[in-house]
Amino acid sequence: MTLSPPSAVSIRAVLLDVDGTLVAGGQPIPGAASTLSWLRRRGIGVRLLTNIDSRTPETVCRELEAAGIEVPVEDVFTPVVAALRFLGQHPAERCHLLLSAELAARFAAHDAGTGRADYVLVGDCREVGGYAQLDAAFRRLMEGARLLALQRGRWWQAADGPSLDTGAFVALLEHASGQTARSFGKPSAGFFEMALADLGCAPAEALVVGDDPDADAAGARTVGAPCVLVRTGKLGSRGGALGEGHPGVAAVIDSIADLPSVLSADLGTPHL
Ligand SMILES: [Mg+2]
Repeated sequence: MTLSPPSAVSIRAVLLDVDGTLVAGGQPIPGAASTLSWLRRRGIGVRLLTNIDSRTPETVCRELEAAGIEVPVEDVFTPVVAALRFLGQHPAERCHLLLSAELAARFAAHDAGTGRADYVLVGDCREVGGYAQLDAAFRRLMEGARLLALQRGRWWQAADGPSLDTGAFVALLEHASGQTARSFGKPSAGFFEMALADLGCAPAEALVVGDDPDADAAGARTVGAPCVLVRTGKLGSRGGALGEGHPGVAAVIDSIADLPSVLSADLGTPHL
């Protein structure tokens, strides 16, 4: 369903969200795998751009594969990838980690332990114990550590309803410390630019597809890429009203299964 007049933008690549767009509650959204095949058959580049910040990209890949969606791990861009690149550029600096156990293991080489911390790195907080762990992170900030957020989503759509996302805890630490976090995930421009550089693609040639106006549509707008929102995931859970009229949204479709119908194939240079 197209909500705004089509624009004559040539699309060479698609940046696809994962949760709420390709899968929901661990189950594939009907049409996800066939749409990926459709895009590949037409030579359209595909990268997954997801704010998943509780698991490694390898785990995300295994879960997608179990859901019948096969994507090479190097095509999966998460805030974990962006944060590891950033920390790789600052090899002497160490982090106080506020992360899931799986990600704490991945960031072990950057862990400050009981020593001086240059950063506090916050990701998915579902495994954070509570006040004591948040207070320990706050104290590191007051000692001079800078606040890093894997992403700052406000809430996410769990299988049984909306749940607090990482951004709520980032806001807590920002409020207490007076700092503003550097965030790696959507909607930050740097995150989209990382995937676009990997594709060798200009923003206007890449279509962002996702279920979240705040992360997907706002990020697309930041870099100047067109965006299509899907009614599955967040939009579906909120009655589908959030995306309509959102700046930069070219269309809202019922699901990923409808993407081929809004991209009229023309030898790999479809027009939206
Ligand atoms: Mg999503």
